[in-house]
Amino acid sequence: MTMSTLPTTRSTPVVVPRTRAALWLFGTVAFGLAVYYFVGLDQGATSVFGNNTYIHELFHDARHFLGFPCH
Ligand SMILES: [Zn+2]
Repeated sequence: MTMSTLPTTRSTPVVVPRTRAALWLFGTVAFGLAVYYFVGLDQGATSVFGNNTYIHELFHDARHFLGFPCH
C-alpha cells in the first residue's frame, strides 16, 4: 500500500479579458505619470494648478526622499 503525501491539486492560469487588462494598464500608466509629474516635475512655474508652489511644497519631502533634483 502506497500513500502519496504530495498535493493532488493542479494550478490553472488566470484568464483576464483583453479589455479589462487594457483598462488596468491604462489606469496604472496614467496614475504613474501623474505621480511622477507631481513628485518629480511640478516646480511651481509649470504647475497645472496655477502659478504657485502648493503642489511642490506638498510633495517636497517625497521629492528629496526619492532623489529628484530640487534645490
Ligand atoms: Zn527641496
